[in-house]
Amino acid sequence: MSKIKISERIERLDYPIRKYNALARSLEEKGEKVIYLNIGDPLKYDFQPPRELIEEACRALQEGHHYYSSSEGLKELREAIAYKEKTWNKVDIDPKNILVTNGVSEGINTLYAALVNEGDEVLIPDPSYPLYINFADFYDARKVFYRTIEEEGWIPDIDDMRKKITEKTRFIVVNNPHNPTGAVYPKKVLQDILDLAAEYKLPVVSDEIYDAMVFNTEFHSVASLAKSDNIVIGMNGFSKTYLATGWRLGYIYLKGPEEEISNMRTAFLGFLMTRLSAVTPLQVAVARAVYKTGSHLKELVSKLDERRRYSAKRLREIPGFSLPVEPKGAFYVFPRVDLKMNDEEFARQLLLDEKVFVVYGSGFGPLGTNHVRLVFLPPVDVLEEAFTRIERFMRKISS
Ligand code: PLP
Repeated sequence: MSKIKISERIERLDYPIRKYNALARSLEEKGEKVIYLNIGDPLKYDFQPPRELIEEACRALQEGHHYYSSSEGLKELREAIAYKEKTWNKVDIDPKNILVTNGVSEGINTLYAALVNEGDEVLIPDPSYPLYINFADFYDARKVFYRTIEEEGWIPDIDDMRKKITEKTRFIVVNNPHNPTGAVYPKKVLQDILDLAAEYKLPVVSDEIYDAMVFNTEFHSVASLAKSDNIVIGMNGFSKTYLATGWRLGYIYLKGPEEEISNMRTAFLGFLMTRLSAVTPLQVAVARAVYKTGSHLKELVSKLDERRRYSAKRLREIPGFSLPVEPKGAFYVFPRVDLKMNDEEFARQLLLDEKVFVVYGSGFGPLGTNHVRLVFLPPVDVLEEAFTRIERFMRKISS
């Protein structure tokens, strides 16, 4: 038995999306063909970053940008991010209020490290992208879930949000378009959240990593709707809409009254200094490519839309599954399932029996119970095979 003691903090981390990776790999080693519908990585299928991004990365490496850069990120990249936010999302941000991170994942870690003490509360959606849950556990904060309403397309319940605010609340997290539900929030809902946050002087953390991935609906950035007394902490990055998950580049931006945001900026930067910098040559590449890219989005969205509609249709035909509202953004679908077993066991058994890897819904929060999350990233022929296997599994467990 090992004498090495493991921290209690690490024991509390539970990342549902990758939890059964080892099991999936062991199945593959035995010659099985696993269909991965668990991870939100377009690069696993027929997607590639825009050509300009790759060309600029090669150029940056050849030019010799191999050094550490500043902890807040290269000035050129922060300027390019300000340009992107302005042109895509109608958000005005001063580049000095942008911090470059190793993916939004590091942005979320930075947020919690800088803003929560033991016992503080964070208001997060139920269901939620797991990192907002994980870092609350990791930093001894209390995760307080606000309800989102499935029948209405998983839209936040503002009354419930209001009821859950206490003296200890540090911020309200909004994720739009939403992972795992694919919800895209109407303008009015975002305005109501901003009004509520202003009333209690709370920052709104808005994770908009799927900002351009919406289908037949309009996306509104929280910061574009903010009033002068709102404090917005924007989270975004290049993993999804630039199809560069492995580049690990994201950013945090701050918008609001100067006396509020300058303090936060210092706190965030204090944490980011401990990891020195984000990957320099890729920062150089993105800084140059942002001005030349964007045209890839049309094809990307139309490809995803076909796969989204196909997945929603197939799921609605499988007995035991229900999908009151189709996803409107991102690349996830979150159907309710009549499970016959708990959802984690369901996902494990589906992987073992039919080699289809989905994520169990309760990993995203209490309201995720009796749901599963699937990505609709694969081409239709792969999705077709996956749904045939899922259908067979459902027949088996209900017989
Ligand atoms: N936020 C949301 C809502 C996500 O879905 C993801 C990844 O799936 C992330 C953040 C993390 O993204 P990255 O660290 O690649 O920027």
